[in-house]
Amino acid sequence: MADIIARCEAKGLRMTDQRRVVARVIDESDDHPDVEELYARSAKIDPRISIATVYRTVKLFEEAGILEKLEFGDGRARYEDAERDHHDHLIDVNSGDVIEFVDPEIEALQEKIAARLGYKLIGHRLELLGIPLKKN
Ligand SMILES: [Zn+2]
Repeated sequence: MADIIARCEAKGLRMTDQRRVVARVIDESDDHPDVEELYARSAKIDPRISIATVYRTVKLFEEAGILEKLEFGDGRARYEDAERDHHDHLIDVNSGDVIEFVDPEIEALQEKIAARLGYKLIGHRLELLGIPLKKN
């Protein structure tokens, strides 16, 4: 997987210093930051960066298919590298924690359902919402 800067350049995006900072932050993130969090991380590298720049850069990367926007129903859009290996998400609605998982049975079942409906599956999104089980 090429890094985000290389992929942006391959798509012909003009990479200013500040866009490079945002790209680097996304490359180094293995979670699901929202724009505020991306801004906080970017500002540690370049304190002159503004949240408006981060917003615009994220939107640009999203439109170029480099970032995937995730909406978990809490009104905060989060982002992750669109080329990460496929996985699904479980969202803890109390804490907002996001847990990643892959389940071969779910993957196979979805393909079966698509085939039954006359389709070849090319992708899916699955978000589970949960609250922690009480431990007695
Ligand atoms: Zn994820």
